[in-house]
Amino acid sequence: AAKRNGGNSIVVFEPHMGSDASAQLELQNDLRHAIARGQITLHYQPKVDGSSGSIIGVEALLRWVHPERGMISPDTFIALAERFGIILALGNWVIEEACRQLAQWRALGLHMRVAINLSVHQLRETGLAQRIATALQNHGVDADQLLCEITESIAMEDTLATQRTFEELRDIGVYLSIDDFGTGYSSLNYLRQLPAQQLKIDRSFIRDLETEEDARAVVQAVVGLAHALGLRVVAEGVETAGQRDILLNMRCDELQGYFYARPMPADMLLAWARGDKPAGTADFSDSVFGG
Ligand code: C2E
Ligand code: MG
Ligand code: MG
Ligand code: MG
Repeated sequence: AAKRNGGNSIVVFEPHMGSDASAQLELQNDLRHAIARGQITLHYQPKVDGSSGSIIGVEALLRWVHPERGMISPDTFIALAERFGIILALGNWVIEEACRQLAQWRALGLHMRVAINLSVHQLRETGLAQRIATALQNHGVDADQLLCEITESIAMEDTLATQRTFEELRDIGVYLSIDDFGTGYSSLNYLRQLPAQQLKIDRSFIRDLETEEDARAVVQAVVGLAHALGLRVVAEGVETAGQRDILLNMRCDELQGYFYARPMPADMLLAWARGDKPAGTADFSDSVFGG
């Protein structure tokens, strides 16, 4: 045990550690109240159809605007939320908000699929599919308008709880996408049985497309694998025209990334989809309108 005797004491608590710990605690506490205080929002990033170049969907991405710290990225606060047991409340809010937004856009004539990201904690919870079904119903939204993105490492977690959730999600009719594909360890046999409609190739491969032969080979193989399994394939993190050209040549179905648009608030997304795009971004037809 640490024994304190005069100047020779063992340091167990340094001032900088103290401030870090209390800063963490403060952030955790702030996060607990962030939803109720209206600091949590969803931004939406377009997914563009490879052949027609039109927007066919968006991915909803969490944003936390902290009163003092400003915008905090989900990579920071999702991990906090998972550690402190707030992730289910946060995930439930996302489900509700995405369905509300889908209904609102549809009322304005914008028809497209909205993707949400699911945490492993949500998949292990019983009743996720029922919760989603209820939210869809409450907002009068069809299940096939919602797509759930699940990272490859989680999707491959072959446990009874996650398997049951996948089956329930399939049964209620929402779409499933395997996110960050290529970074986990897929069992091809398990992948074959997953009720997914989409594979999303991880950004790290897209980033290296123009410079690395290996990355090109992997992406080409994933496109082939996806199509052989009857899945659509999406590239995330497309930043350049060169990357887009390579992906279109490889018959990648959907593209998403800063080259097209960054994630943006719902009202900006509506304007963007209507063709009111800021200079410098690509111009696409608005085929999602109508109906
Ligand atoms: P993700 O689902 O793989 O989302 C893609 C991330 O890449 C987003 O970061 C997006 O803003 C970013 N991105 C998109 N295009 C580009 C590009 O061209 N270049 C670069 N460098 N980045 C690009 P973001 O919004 O910071 O989200 C990070 C991660 O946080 C997400 O990765 C997802 O795993 C998680 N996340 C976000 N929202 C939610 C949510 O509602 N629930 C859960 N459970 N996780 C979420
Ligand atoms: Mg995602
Ligand atoms: Mg991703
Ligand atoms: Mg990724």
